[in-house]
Amino acid sequence: MSIEVTMHSDRRFRAIIERSSDAISLLTAEGTVTYASPSTRRVTGYSAEELVGRNGFTLLHPEELEDARQQLTALLERPGDFITLERRFRHADGTWHRVEVTLTNLLDDPEVGAVVCNYRDITQRKQGQERLLQSEERYRVLVEQAGVGMFVTDLQGHLVEVNEVGCQLCGYSREALLTMHIQDLIPEEDRAAVRVEIERLRAGEITRSQWYMKRKDGSLLPVGTTANQLSTGHLLVIVRDISHRIRAEQARQQLLAYEQAARAEAEAARARLYEFLHQAPARIIALRGPEHRVEFANAQVLEFEHYADRVGKPFREGWPELVEQGILAILDEVYTTGTPFIGTGVPLKVDRTGEGVLVEAYFNLVYQPLRNEQGDIDGLLLSAMEVTEQVQARRRVEELNRQLEAEKDALRQAKQEAEARAAELSATFEAMTEGVIVCDARGEIRYTNSAYRSLLALEEDADSSVLQLDHRFEWLALRDLEGRPLPKEQLATLRVLRGERLSGIHTVDHLCRTHKGEDIILNVGGAPIRDAAGRIVGGVIVFHDVTRRRQLEQQLQHSERKLRSLVESNIFGVWVIDDAGHSYEINDRLVQLLGYSKEELLSGTIRWQQLTSPEYQEAQAQTSKTILSTGAFLPYEKEYLRKDGSRVPVLVAGALIDQERAIGMAVILDMSEQKAAERRKQEFLSMVSHELRTPLTSIMGFIDLALLCSDLFPRPLSPEAEQLLDKMETGLKRAMGQVEVETRLVEELLEVSRLELLKFELSLQRENLITIVQETVTNQQQAARTRHIELVLPPEEQVPVLADAGRIGQALTNYLTNALKYAPVDQPISVRLEVTGTVARVSVRDQGPGLTPEQQQRVWERFYQVAAPDRQGPDGGLGLGLAIARAIIEQHQGQVGVESAPGQGSTFWFTVPLADGLIQA
Ligand code: ADP
Repeated sequence: MSIEVTMHSDRRFRAIIERSSDAISLLTAEGTVTYASPSTRRVTGYSAEELVGRNGFTLLHPEELEDARQQLTALLERPGDFITLERRFRHADGTWHRVEVTLTNLLDDPEVGAVVCNYRDITQRKQGQERLLQSEERYRVLVEQAGVGMFVTDLQGHLVEVNEVGCQLCGYSREALLTMHIQDLIPEEDRAAVRVEIERLRAGEITRSQWYMKRKDGSLLPVGTTANQLSTGHLLVIVRDISHRIRAEQARQQLLAYEQAARAEAEAARARLYEFLHQAPARIIALRGPEHRVEFANAQVLEFEHYADRVGKPFREGWPELVEQGILAILDEVYTTGTPFIGTGVPLKVDRTGEGVLVEAYFNLVYQPLRNEQGDIDGLLLSAMEVTEQVQARRRVEELNRQLEAEKDALRQAKQEAEARAAELSATFEAMTEGVIVCDARGEIRYTNSAYRSLLALEEDADSSVLQLDHRFEWLALRDLEGRPLPKEQLATLRVLRGERLSGIHTVDHLCRTHKGEDIILNVGGAPIRDAAGRIVGGVIVFHDVTRRRQLEQQLQHSERKLRSLVESNIFGVWVIDDAGHSYEINDRLVQLLGYSKEELLSGTIRWQQLTSPEYQEAQAQTSKTILSTGAFLPYEKEYLRKDGSRVPVLVAGALIDQERAIGMAVILDMSEQKAAERRKQEFLSMVSHELRTPLTSIMGFIDLALLCSDLFPRPLSPEAEQLLDKMETGLKRAMGQVEVETRLVEELLEVSRLELLKFELSLQRENLITIVQETVTNQQQAARTRHIELVLPPEEQVPVLADAGRIGQALTNYLTNALKYAPVDQPISVRLEVTGTVARVSVRDQGPGLTPEQQQRVWERFYQVAAPDRQGPDGGLGLGLAIARAIIEQHQGQVGVESAPGQGSTFWFTVPLADGLIQA
């Protein structure tokens, strides 16, 4: 209000305000508008009325509000002070305008009492300013980035502007330059030219030239300049650094110089090379092009007269003989591949004289490619060094070496062989059980094997002097077998050295002493060793300890004497024979027995086998086998045929005395006497049986009759008579029983004597053995009903045999009655008939006491009974049953046997051959 009054009062001031292009407002300390000038509308778009009462801050950009408040707050502290701000302001049309505000703190001024705010829209100005700045910036960037120095001078040549590159080029700072004249950057001698140029520029010309810029450090920089006059009247000089171009040019010039020098040098080198090639000790040829045209040949080549005209011609024409030998192919190869060829000692046939005569020579060859400046192969350099002499010399040396090696090899081999032979020999000697010594010509020992040392009880570490000839002879105490000392010259070593060979029967037995003093008998053999000329250079002597053999021989002689006395006593016949039938020895007893003379028997005309009677031939063959396999055969009975044709029964036993030659000795006992006695006994038996049987038959008749009478006796009788009759009957029956036993015994006796005397007649028929066995078993079962007899038959219906049915039945009966007799009554007996191969086998198995092996052999003898009281059967027996069974079976060409062990029961068996034609497989 007071302001309004003041304003009103000061019209002039007011008129200024009213016309001011700036808008003016008065604000409270909080920023509320209390007055706004009329130009406010132009600046803000609001009328003065619209603004008064509003807070000025509400029109500011929110981002700048806070700062504006702070600025105002700070201003309020400083009465009378002012601040100028640039702020964005929202125009009434909604757009943001930029305004420049000046706030003056006149709150304390009693006349104003407000913050005076002058503001004007600077949007336009701001934009213009920015555009100008931007274009100036672009220009500046252009100038700086042009990469060229820009110097601006006034018409007199004083520098007025320079860019950064310009500063760098001359090395002065901008400030320094702006005080300088363009001439200061040019060497003294060029300045006149510069002045002329300035004149030309002032005349409106554009000039281009090259100068040296004199830099701040005094150095000269080659530069290229373009200059013209600007519209401002100033002169613009654009300066480019051309030092690198200059340097490049200089380098090019230098290279050129180098190249020329190199060329000259190369030429010189080439000349030197050719000179050298001419001098070279090898033949050198340079070829050009794929044709291999000879371009150069050195003196070595040209020294052959006929070679000179080859220069300029293709290789193929110059050296046709080498083309044939494959050289051209090698040249082509090197030419195309670029790989050099190097050959050492290459054999070539060359024409030395040019007359077409080829001689062999050797060369070390080096073929190298030659390249042109582009590095392409355009030629070849051949070098050939003749090494014929060296090669030949080397060949000769090699040949000599080879011969030497071969000789060395042969020598080595001979040495190896000799060593191997020596090793073999000493290994053999070491392995020998005979003692071996090798001695030199003086008899001194050079080698002994271990057998020799152990034979003579020489310790391994014994002093070698003990083997010295004299010393050796001393402790050996050489004697003959009778103990008589022998002279030194009898020493085998000395005998051998005198040239004797002691071998075979010429070996000698010596009695000598071991080094420990023990007597031994040595058998000594040996032979001299001779050199190529036949001179004796040593000897080998072999020793064999025969002490034991000698002792054995003595023992043998002793026992032989004993045996001989037995043989010569002629108690029994002795016959030494071999498998082939020869007789070696025969004593008088046997000579006498056989009825041939000793000479006849020993001459070999009669083979001893022939003297055995035919029926014993088989048994004899069997014993021959036995003696060869077991070394002896047990005594068995047989008969010999005497010279006069009569037979002599003998008992023969034998033993093998020489296994290798199958020589045996048989001892033969004459059994004639015994046999005669036996026969007499048999005849007697037979006679006795006959004599006994007749009365027994009649006794039985009488007893039968008596019993019949007693039966027929009229009854009743008095008790006494009845009693008497009973007693008599009992007596008669017992007598009858006794007579029956007697009869059976007599029957058996008779049977045996018949068997023994071969008066045993069989009526052989084709029979079915099954039937015989079945019937026999049935009979026995009836006789002993309480006993269990089991019968096992084969699956066949028929077992055909050629037999006397009654006799076979009798044999089986004998087995069966024995089994019933000797086996416990509660044990079953098993009878079995089976067919095996070509025979039928019948066996009877019982659970009786069994038999020892000896008993098993002896039960087949006549009258043999096992001696045990509890074995005696109820009816006694004569020990003839099994003998009879055997006789029967053997007559049927069968065999008998028993398998048993004590306590294990027995199985008695017999076999009978199956009848012909019906034999089953
Ligand atoms: P013996 O008339 O005594 O039976 P044998 O010649 O039949 O005569 O038998 C000879 C002996 O063989 C008999 O005394 C008996 O000791 C013995 N012996 C025979 N068979 C058997 C058997 N099955 N078991 C045990 N011992 C037997």
